Amino acid sequence: MIFNHVCRCLLCGQTQRSPVCPLCLAMLARLDGPLCRCGLPHPAGDPGNPLPAPLCGRCLKRPPSFTVSQAPLHYRFPLDHLIRRYKYRGDLVAERGIEKLLADTPCPWPEMDALCPLPAHWYRRWWRGFDQSQRLTDRLATLWKIPCLPALRRRQSTPMQQGLSRSQRQRNLRGAFACTRPVSGLRLILVDDVMTTGSSARAASDCLLRQGAAEVRVWTLARTPER
Ligand SMILES: [Zn+2]
Ligand SMILES: [Zn+2]
Repeated sequence: MIFNHVCRCLLCGQTQRSPVCPLCLAMLARLDGPLCRCGLPHPAGDPGNPLPAPLCGRCLKRPPSFTVSQAPLHYRFPLDHLIRRYKYRGDLVAERGIEKLLADTPCPWPEMDALCPLPAHWYRRWWRGFDQSQRLTDRLATLWKIPCLPALRRRQSTPMQQGLSRSQRQRNLRGAFACTRPVSGLRLILVDDVMTTGSSARAASDCLLRQGAAEVRVWTLARTPER
């Protein structure tokens, strides 16, 4: 294997044996403690994570259709560098770094039936030549021993989300996903690399539940802290 040889840490550049050195791994900000259903810290939540998760002020106004969302890490330095490098440059060394993080992450819900990748926008997939959430889900399926069920397709007409406000994003995403596999009665974990506003996860979850899925939970590698 290539990483038995000496290489440089993707984050600090230090010479060592794995794509992310132990010091940088320890520096990554972990998201522990009670969470709202949207995946952000919730002071009144129960650290035992009861389901459905409690709701913050924003979620109370419009509760997500998924029962819980969880991300082990904060999307901030140095993790954001690693994910961007992977996502926008299709960097396979960065992918090794991400796989190393995944290897340390146990499945929070082993009782679920299948993992469903949240598909990337078609334009991004075409531009980058791969779909990072599909790759992430395949990796997790092996690690967590839960089958991967790619049940969602993104409709080609949805415009890009970047730079839009929360309400614009939500409007934009209505009908953005189509379900392409039978999901009736299944308990699914939606998987993506980063959750930012949660609008895509909400729309994808709505679509799966409309098609008869019994429950949807959301897992992302990282969560953007609230701005
Ligand atoms: Zn390092
Ligand atoms: Zn919330």
